Amino acid sequence: MNQPSPRYRFAPSPTGFLHVGGARTALWNWALAHSQGGKFVLRIEDTDEERNRSEWTQGIIDALAWIGIGADDPCFEGPYFQSHYAAQHVAAASRLCEAGLAYYCDMTAAEIEARNKVEGNQGYQGWSRNLGLGPGTARVLRFKVPEGTTVVRDLVRGEVSFDNALIEDFVLLRGNGSPMFHLANVVDDIEMRITHVVRAEEHLPNTPKQQMLWQALGKEPPVWAHVPLLVNEARKKLSKRRDKVALEQYRDEGYLASAMVNYLMTLGWTPAGDSEIAPWDEMQRDFRLEDVNHSPAFFDVKKLAAFNGEHIRMLSPTQFYEASKPWLFGPSAPFPRDGFDERMFIAMVPHIQPRCVTLADAAGVVDFLFQREPVIDQPSWDKVMTTTEAGPVLSATIAAYTSLTDDDWSADRLKDSLEQVGEAHGLKLGKTQAPVRVAVTGRTVGPPLFEALEVLGRAETLRRMTAAEARL
Ligand code: GLU
Repeated sequence: MNQPSPRYRFAPSPTGFLHVGGARTALWNWALAHSQGGKFVLRIEDTDEERNRSEWTQGIIDALAWIGIGADDPCFEGPYFQSHYAAQHVAAASRLCEAGLAYYCDMTAAEIEARNKVEGNQGYQGWSRNLGLGPGTARVLRFKVPEGTTVVRDLVRGEVSFDNALIEDFVLLRGNGSPMFHLANVVDDIEMRITHVVRAEEHLPNTPKQQMLWQALGKEPPVWAHVPLLVNEARKKLSKRRDKVALEQYRDEGYLASAMVNYLMTLGWTPAGDSEIAPWDEMQRDFRLEDVNHSPAFFDVKKLAAFNGEHIRMLSPTQFYEASKPWLFGPSAPFPRDGFDERMFIAMVPHIQPRCVTLADAAGVVDFLFQREPVIDQPSWDKVMTTTEAGPVLSATIAAYTSLTDDDWSADRLKDSLEQVGEAHGLKLGKTQAPVRVAVTGRTVGPPLFEALEVLGRAETLRRMTAAEARL
C-alpha cells in the first residue's frame, strides 16, 4: 500500500513574538517535511480572543519567513487560522455526543470544588456522566474518558503510558458553546490530514487526551514527537521576563538568519561531520527525530554569537554589504548617508568581517571613512598625541606619504614607508602607527590601518594627518 506523504505542522498561538523554542520546533518540522517530500502546514491557533491580533499573526509569519519558512516554497501550506474552523470543531463535538462519547454537564467550578472538598478528591469526577443532560445555557460538553491505559508512542521519548483513571473528563465545548483547545487542535489536525505532530515537550501531558479524541473520532492518531525544552544558563526554562526569547529581537540586532537557523537546529541535535557549523541543505537532509537528545538544551547566547560571527565570515563582500544595509542606512548610522561610499565599504569588508559579532557592528568599525571629519575620541587623543614622539612621527609620515603617488598608494607601500619612519625614530611599528591611526580614524582601535588608508585614499589621508598635526 502506498504510504501517504507525511504532513507536518506548526501550530503557534499568537503571543506577540515568535519564541526561539517555537522557531526551533518550526525548523525541525520544516526539515522533516522537506527531506521526506512532505508538507509543512502553518496553522495559527488564534481562538483566544485577547491574543487574536492581526499584527501578532503577521509577526509570526514574518519571523518564519526570515528563517526561510514561507509560502514561496512548495513544501509550505497555509497559513490556516483556527478561528475559521469553529463550525467543524462544533460538528465533531456533536458527533461525539451522538455516539455517547461525550456528555453535557452543568456543574460550576465552585460546585466541583465544594464537592471535592467533601469527598477528598481532585478534579472533576465524572459526576454528570449518567444524568442524560441535553445542551443548555452554561452547560459544558465533556469527553467521557474511557477506562484503561493510554500509551503514547513518541519518536523522541519512546513509549509513555498514562493511567486514564488520572485523567478527568475534560471539556470539549465551553458553556457558551465555543470549542476548547484539545478539541480544536485535534479536529484541525484531522481536517488538515496531519500525520506527524512534532511539538514542545510541555504538550506531552495533553497527548493522551488528544490521542483519545483522535480514536473517538475514528482516526488513527498521528506520529507524536515531543522535543526537549530550551533552558537558560541557570538550567531554568527560558522565560520572556528573564531571557531574550523573541526571534525578532535577534533579527533586529543583526543576527544572520543562516546563523540563527544553524544554531537552533543544534539545540538538542548534532549535525553529522566535524563541525556544528553546517549548511541548511545538509542539516535538513540529515535531521532525524530519533537522534534528538532527551535532556533540555541550553540556549547559549554566547554560542549563538559565535555562530553568527562564523556565518558573517562566510558572506561575500556584496552579501555582507546587502545584509548590513539596515545598520548602515538606518537611524543609528554614525555617518551621513551622502558620506557613504559603496565601493569603499565593499573594499573594507574582508577587514571588517573578522571583527563583527553582529551585522550592527560594521557601521561603527568603518564610520571614520564616511564622516567628513573623524570623530576624535578624547582619551585616545590624550594617550597618543601628547607623547613626545607623536609630532615628529606624524610630520615624518606626512612627508613620506606625500612622496608616494596615487599609483603607489597601496597597503604594502604605506606599511613599508611607515616602518622606515619608525626605524629612523627608533620606534616599533605599533608605536609609529598610533598617531597616524588617531589622526585618521579618531581612535586607537579599528580595522587594519594600512588597508583602511588605502581605501580612504591619498588626498583624504594626508588632509586628516595635516589637520591633526596642526592641532598638536
Ligand atoms: N498552539 C499551541 C502552542 O502554541 C501548540 C499546539 C500544538 O503544537 O499542538 O503551544
